[in-house]
Amino acid sequence: VDHYLNRIAAQAHLNAFTDVYADECRTQAVLIDQKLANGTAGRLAGMVIGIKDVLSYKEHGLRAGSHILDTFTAQFTGTAVERLLAEDAIIIGRQNCDEFAMGSSNENSAFGPARNAANPDRVPGGSSGGSAVAVQAGLCLASIGSDTGGSVRQPAAFCGVVGLKPTYGRISRWGLVAYASSFDCIGPIANTVDDVALLLEIMAGPDEFDSTVSTQPVGAYSQAVHAPGKPLKIAYLREGIDSDGVEPAIRDATRQTLDQLRAAGHQVEPVDISLLKYLLPTYYILTTAEASSNLSRFDGVRYGYRSPDSTDLISMYKRSRTDGFGAEVRRRILLGTFVLSASYYDAYYTKAQRVRRLMQQEMERLFSQYDVLLSPTTPTTAYRLGEKMDDPLQMYLGDIFTVLANVVGYPAVSVPNGHDGSEPPLPIGLQLMTPPFSEERLLTVAQSLQ
Ligand code: GLN
Repeated sequence: VDHYLNRIAAQAHLNAFTDVYADECRTQAVLIDQKLANGTAGRLAGMVIGIKDVLSYKEHGLRAGSHILDTFTAQFTGTAVERLLAEDAIIIGRQNCDEFAMGSSNENSAFGPARNAANPDRVPGGSSGGSAVAVQAGLCLASIGSDTGGSVRQPAAFCGVVGLKPTYGRISRWGLVAYASSFDCIGPIANTVDDVALLLEIMAGPDEFDSTVSTQPVGAYSQAVHAPGKPLKIAYLREGIDSDGVEPAIRDATRQTLDQLRAAGHQVEPVDISLLKYLLPTYYILTTAEASSNLSRFDGVRYGYRSPDSTDLISMYKRSRTDGFGAEVRRRILLGTFVLSASYYDAYYTKAQRVRRLMQQEMERLFSQYDVLLSPTTPTTAYRLGEKMDDPLQMYLGDIFTVLANVVGYPAVSVPNGHDGSEPPLPIGLQLMTPPFSEERLLTVAQSLQ
């Protein structure tokens, strides 16, 4: 614990943590030492973990990177965090993220941006940017983030660590601040596939507090990663290595990995996804719609911040939400309210739901022929702070490879795949995707690439 506390202090410029629970962790560590001595310690005894500032941990602040929750304290501990604690993990602090998990660079945080440890002039990715950089810089052993459209995998790729988005419903969302409820997944970030497998195994499974969580049995993921691999049919997204929109270093790194997989005896073939160009519009229509509904609860009455300048009820709502939310969150609430409005509902929301169904069917067809779908995690490596802040559409385009898994609810993992040629070199990520509830296969293949 002291080692990590010292490192967090020494690397404060990375702005990875928004809150550190130093005294509490030291006390916990002493208790766990005793448990270790008498043989009653849990499976995560002493594992030092950071949690993204969207996960509820009783009697600790919870701000979702937003001013609107400035004074809010969590009333209960969410299921995933509860299960980590039950196995004697140590929660060292809360990690910086984009406001309400909306963003790809961590620059939408009310706490200021986190920075990439490979080059502090670069973004760490987002929205779980603080969580990824904390693992990258050795400020904790693992982090727990959330992934609605790539927020675990994309920062993992930018920071050169492993990030897993499980199947939708694999881990209970109880205690996760809602962004887009039919997309949101909690997911671990760590240095190794082994560690994410163990964390998944502990956090996954049925939970009476989340009606969308699956009752499918939880796999022995931590053992599966050590099973011998067998020859597989691997599809790769042609767009991922042919398109000019993908940086050359990323295309090269992906090609090299494909060659390695062929050499290891797998069958590797290109595929096209016919609906690819509709992915981002579908994702941004549906997630903003859900966000506009989910964020209506922040009304200045029930949680956190209330504007002192209001004169009546309506102006209190307006002022509290205008001052409390940042620009990107306001943009998405407006967009979501628009696509749900009576005159546009069918043209946008209903149509996007239909496209979502078609994508699910296309993926079912694809995975009736292939075991794994592979692509780069991102079209670029980490960009400069500020570089895309004036152009939200440019920023949204960076989500092209990650949002598919959330649109269809499939599990996907990002693993490090070398570095580009910049000085200092920036990490590249490779993404693997498999059908729902096949995390054992997903993690076994990911492990073979380490
Ligand atoms: N960058 C995507 C967005 O802004 C993904 C965010 C996420 O996964 N939470 O919506």
